[in-house]
Amino acid sequence: MGADHPGISQGFVGAVGNTPLIRLAALSELTGCTILGKAEFMNPGGSVKDRAALGILLEAEQSGELRPGGTVVEGTAGNTGIGLTHLCNARGYRALIVIPETQSAEKIGLLRSLGAEVRTVPAVPYRDPNNYVRLSGRIAADTPGAVWANQFDNLANRRTHFNSTGPEIWQQTGGQVDAWVAATGTGGTYAGVALYLKQQNPAVRCVLADPHGSALYSWATGGELRSEGSSITEGIGNSRVTANLDGAPVDDAVRIDDQQALETIYQLLWREGLFLGGSVGINVAAAVETARRLGPGHTIVTVLCDSGDRYRSRLYDRDWLASRGLRQPAAVAEVPA
Ligand code: PMP
Repeated sequence: MGADHPGISQGFVGAVGNTPLIRLAALSELTGCTILGKAEFMNPGGSVKDRAALGILLEAEQSGELRPGGTVVEGTAGNTGIGLTHLCNARGYRALIVIPETQSAEKIGLLRSLGAEVRTVPAVPYRDPNNYVRLSGRIAADTPGAVWANQFDNLANRRTHFNSTGPEIWQQTGGQVDAWVAATGTGGTYAGVALYLKQQNPAVRCVLADPHGSALYSWATGGELRSEGSSITEGIGNSRVTANLDGAPVDDAVRIDDQQALETIYQLLWREGLFLGGSVGINVAAAVETARRLGPGHTIVTVLCDSGDRYRSRLYDRDWLASRGLRQPAAVAEVPA
């Protein structure tokens, strides 16, 4: 068998994408809709951000900005940094990652294990020059041979979703998709898929999901960036409209609180056997709310961004949840046959 046999993936890069689209049985039955989750936690670096990391890196190579032995610098909540570090190892670059110290110990520890140079910084708002994203841009500018991935405003991010995630969803559903629901961090996943699906069928309803503490729900529903409260979810929500989100279709928005997101990920664990992260709780709960708004008989697609393994010491720890005023959902007493 030749090394280029179609069944063989070419390294880490070749293994990114083409993830399963999983029907969430219990929630589909509950709503009378077909609720589907794109299994992005099955990417080789463990999250949806492998796609953005790859798209950004390939464009930087193609433009000549990133040269052999160069450094890739990024400010990240963790997953983009993890994807980038795998790719840097696979392609001969150094990774320098700036991450807010509020992110989970699992993600920060994993970045170090993978060999990234990790700088943890206090979590401060984007308007502060020491915000992790802005700091990463300055470090890149000051480091010889470095490129700044700039995932929030580099459109290579949403292009990769337009070119891969969107077409995969279209093919996997045979074009039978009524709604697309996703929370946004950079906006790359939401916007790339929304733009692609609308191009195929303008009737596809695109719904932005948002945690508390983010300004995007009020922006999407009333045009004004305003946030209240906070969230324990990581990697999603924003105080501004990034270049990646700008111009993406938004037909509706759903805001989900942390307790509801927790109930959702524990349901996914007990009823579906899926062990997933907090942003998935926001996405799937918003997909269920969208199903309620649309009524039975619709097909709704969302994203299963990463695994619960990255949040074991938080979302799956009763004491940590209690310290945040949250209740660990009780075990499901009776699972319907
Ligand atoms: N969920 C998780 C766990 C993430 O890390 C991210 C990215 N920060 C997202 C969702 C959102 O993806 P995007 O940046 O494409 O909006």
